[in-house]
Amino acid sequence: MDEKRRISLERASKLNEEIEDFLAFKDEFLRKTSEIRDVLSSKHKEELMDYFGADENDWNDWHWQLHNRISSVSLLSKFIKLSDEQYKMFEEISKKYRWATTPYYLSLMDYEDMSYPINMMALPTAAENDTSGELDPMSEEYTNPAPCITRRYPNRLIINVTSSCAMFCRHCQRRRRIGESDRIESEENIEAAIEYIRNTREIRDVLITGGDPLMLPDEMLEKIISRVRQIPHVEIIRIGSRLPVTMPQRITKELCDMLKKYHPLFMNVQFNHPGELTKDAVAACERIVDAGIPMGNQMVFLKGINNDKYIVQLLNEGLLKARVRPYYIFHPKQVMGTRHFEITVEEGLKIMKYLRGHTSGLAIPQYILNAPGGLGKIPLLPNYIIESDEEHIVLHTWEDREVEIIY
Ligand SMILES: *Cc1c(COP(=O)(O)O)cnc(C)c1O
Ligand code: SF4
Repeated sequence: MDEKRRISLERASKLNEEIEDFLAFKDEFLRKTSEIRDVLSSKHKEELMDYFGADENDWNDWHWQLHNRISSVSLLSKFIKLSDEQYKMFEEISKKYRWATTPYYLSLMDYEDMSYPINMMALPTAAENDTSGELDPMSEEYTNPAPCITRRYPNRLIINVTSSCAMFCRHCQRRRRIGESDRIESEENIEAAIEYIRNTREIRDVLITGGDPLMLPDEMLEKIISRVRQIPHVEIIRIGSRLPVTMPQRITKELCDMLKKYHPLFMNVQFNHPGELTKDAVAACERIVDAGIPMGNQMVFLKGINNDKYIVQLLNEGLLKARVRPYYIFHPKQVMGTRHFEITVEEGLKIMKYLRGHTSGLAIPQYILNAPGGLGKIPLLPNYIIESDEEHIVLHTWEDREVEIIY
């Protein structure tokens, strides 16, 4: 064997070793979650359909899912056995912050273990009583040049069309808007927002969000999208939605057929944990992508859910299989009632550093911190530059090998 081949083989075997721990984790994790996902969740689904006297068609109908949301402790306790203490705590938190989950999302939970990530994202905990943190950490009120509009950048903006969502995520960073009421913006307000975009030729990228814009009926959504599409200087339209995750039944063929008339259109979703990547959720994403709509994922770092390098890797590799490109990972903001989910930037950066080298670049999103005061997004990157001046630069690689380039 020639020397070059021998060295390459040695290197390749070192690389195999490098990923062994992850592969062992992946096997164990997929075994556990597939037990929950495939065995328990179909059992839960049967029980829920039984309880509501529903059939498969009902279950697959998003109106049915919405209509039968579980939002009272007494109903929840028919499925998840709550201790007296938990029951009281749920009632107490319910008075402070609304909660609700679709039957679909409830079926994904582990009924025995409240620290299972899917439970944690949907069900209240005593930690929400913590009153530190802000209600509006991004000062959204000061970046509203027109009704429904948030503008922080020269050529792109957000239009909020509704405050309703299929479920009220416990980690929601926009609790101030979402936690109060299900309000679809009035036609006048939406008209005023569209008028603002029409009169602002700088805007070439319009992000339609909420709440969750896919909560609107198709006709209402189409009315908004088609009017934005008619504005000559608007080049791309983006939709931000979590419904492919929390109520994938919403992604109907009719919806996709409607959306694809308004290309170029993009969609961003929010998967936070591999347990959310169910057959139904993946199929929903595929329907969207098949309509020619590129999909991105916006994860939020959440303690106890995904502050783990292997979980993030599994999630992102799973997303790519569903043709969803990991786009952003958000650093959690200091929002009142969600502080138990916070992690430090230090911890987040360690995970980002691990990803580089250990997985496809396609599976590595950008880590983003939203500046306080509505000042915009700040990308966070592990520092690879050790020293740099006019003559040279010293860097380290993903394996922490030092390299120098002399100019
Ligand atoms: C996040 C955000 C955008 C979109 O930002 P991108 O980095 O382009 O994805 C636009 N406007 C506002 C107000 C935002 O918060
Ligand atoms: S879907 Fe988004 S906006 Fe709605 S509650 Fe969840 S995190 Fe908040």
